[in-house]
Amino acid sequence: MSGHAQRPTEPILSVRDLRVSFRGQGGEREVLHGVSFDVHAGETVAIVGESGSGKSTTAAAIINLLPGTGKVTGGSVTLEGRELTKLTRHEIEDVRGKDIGFVPQDPMASLNPVWSIGFQVKEAVRANGLASGRGEVRDRAVEVLKQAGLADADRRLHQYPHQFSGGMRQRALIGIGLAADPKLLIADEPTSALDVTVQRVILDHMASLTRDRGTAVLLITHDLGLAAERAEKIIVMNGGDIVEAGPSREILENPQHPYTKRLVGAAP
Ligand code: ADP
Ligand code: MG
Repeated sequence: MSGHAQRPTEPILSVRDLRVSFRGQGGEREVLHGVSFDVHAGETVAIVGESGSGKSTTAAAIINLLPGTGKVTGGSVTLEGRELTKLTRHEIEDVRGKDIGFVPQDPMASLNPVWSIGFQVKEAVRANGLASGRGEVRDRAVEVLKQAGLADADRRLHQYPHQFSGGMRQRALIGIGLAADPKLLIADEPTSALDVTVQRVILDHMASLTRDRGTAVLLITHDLGLAAERAEKIIVMNGGDIVEAGPSREILENPQHPYTKRLVGAAP
């Protein structure tokens, strides 16, 4: 190598002082109070915290898909130098299709009930531009579903979401999230509905992506044990704030914040 010191790599995702509010009868209610963190290539970062702490809102704000009256009221989200909160709807859809894969928390709400599973996966495959011809797109769709743990994917392409079990729907969504071979995969409680064996298959697959392709993963989970097992870094959220963040081992072995201490104490 040449003489100069190695520069630390730029993060793929940089979230700075992110604020989100929802409007309700009582007026505006801020639910994210200035959240900041980075995710680097090839790294898995977990966000943990109890229900209602703001994990899903953080994910939704990053990909510009806040539900209902949700609005980003401050801060920035930067993906490889591109400010996402300023993009038009069309531009952000392009980013979601190609650069960020998203596995949402609720599999039934996120699959379109009137389109076959195969159609929805093929749409995602087409979005990445890696496959074009009909056969090629189909083969790739089968491949991503198999990668997501759906063994009999070939037979099931023509089926509709209501013909899938909850676990199969979740696997289909994970396939869709991975179809575009994204730089960043955001997975919101991706395996909480699945049995332990399938959970393992899918999380192992996500781990192989970070290893082989340098995919960055933002793994959202209420399960601190799972976070510690799967992520290098853990971000602990409580009440819309990050109360503590650091290498998983440090969080687990030497938690600083009282809330984290409680979480660690409660983990099996
Ligand atoms: P988590 O994913 O950690 O369980 P959420 O991000 O879903 O937490 O919720 C954070 C806060 O935002 C909660 O107080 C919740 O009530 C509020 N919230 C989430 N979605 C909506 C919505 N669509 N309308 C109003 N408030 C919401
Ligand atoms: Mg959630």
